[in-house]
Amino acid sequence: MATIDFDNVQKSYGEVHAIRDFTLHVEDGDFCVFVGPSGCGKSTALKMLAGLEATSAGSISIGGRDVTELGPGKRDIAMVFQNYALYPHMSVRSNIGFGLKMRGQDKADINRKVEAAAETLELTSYLDRRPRALSGGQRQRVALGRAIVREPSAFLMDEPLSNLDAKLRVQTRSEIVNLQKRLGVTTIYVTHDQVEALTMATKIVVMRGGVIQQIGSPDTLFAEP
Ligand code: ADP
Ligand code: ADP
Repeated sequence: MATIDFDNVQKSYGEVHAIRDFTLHVEDGDFCVFVGPSGCGKSTALKMLAGLEATSAGSISIGGRDVTELGPGKRDIAMVFQNYALYPHMSVRSNIGFGLKMRGQDKADINRKVEAAAETLELTSYLDRRPRALSGGQRQRVALGRAIVREPSAFLMDEPLSNLDAKLRVQTRSEIVNLQKRLGVTTIYVTHDQVEALTMATKIVVMRGGVIQQIGSPDTLFAEP
């Protein structure tokens, strides 16, 4: 668990100011949703937090530690993408354990963590399957499994439900919320879907044209005055 801070972060791609004057404090254990129309800078903000894009100016801290100059592997975060990014030729077990293996963790340790994650996500009976033999919702859970085995300080999720059909999206939404509550891991979640923001977030950041328009809770933000 960790706090997350953006301090006056800017990002330009040539002439395009993708993010301007981005200042935000996220509390330990918050489920913080960045919401806004396509092109408003949500992914750019998330990628800078992940270390996948450099900032043009300003600083970013995770757990009070300035990570602005650190690479993605050094930030103690785990990212979940909309396309799941699973390895097709690997079993569910290997997919979930891959990040730990890359870090040189002990085999028995990895197995124990993978099995615990699989149990949490109700994937135990699918551990020996390949991703192609899973449903969309199950693949999504494998992607989550990959993130939780790492025991990171924060989860970063970029439209993780956008490839699911409407019914499964609603179901997976509450699975993610419950999982996050149970683990208490600070989460930044990007979506263009206002309903998703309202039903999942403890804190909502409304973005438009590269700037933060409003910050609030689901109760206060869109309530009639
Ligand atoms: P969102 O995630 O809200 O859809 P993005 O963060 O992807 O928005 O994009 C914000 C702005 O930055 C857009 O105008 C987009 O075209 C621009 N942008 C994003 N990535 C790049 C890039 N690699 N090169 C140039 N412009 C980019
Ligand atoms: P890390 O935080 O080190 O990226 P991961 O478990 O996410 O941990 O990935 C381990 C390595 O595999 C990293 O170098 C990452 O860039 C790479 N990787 C992860 N997912 C994919 C993918 N779908 N395709 C190609 N490379 C990937």
